[in-house]
Amino acid sequence: MSTHNQSRRIVLRSLLATGCALCLPRLSTAQTGKMSKAQAQYQDQSKGDQKCGNCMYFSAPNSCMVVEGNISPDGWCKLWVKKPAEDPVGRM
Ligand code: SF4
Repeated sequence: MSTHNQSRRIVLRSLLATGCALCLPRLSTAQTGKMSKAQAQYQDQSKGDQKCGNCMYFSAPNSCMVVEGNISPDGWCKLWVKKPAEDPVGRM
């Protein structure tokens, strides 16, 4: 095998390894269907009146439908959406 071919193999392997490393965080998100806390800019404190406990995506006691991990009811992220008021008659 020529030196030129060996160099080309090394370059191709390096590119493949780098590409796989870059894809891993995306695969993790794709597997759970949720965004990471970092991507959502999650924080453990509320932002004014906005907090996970009054967000439509919060799932008691400590999870979220769209963000991975343990979620505090007093936390907040950039995906916050106000939870709709409950219908006093119980209709949906
Ligand atoms: S603010 Fe809403 S979307 Fe963001 S982590 Fe809390 S519950 Fe999830």
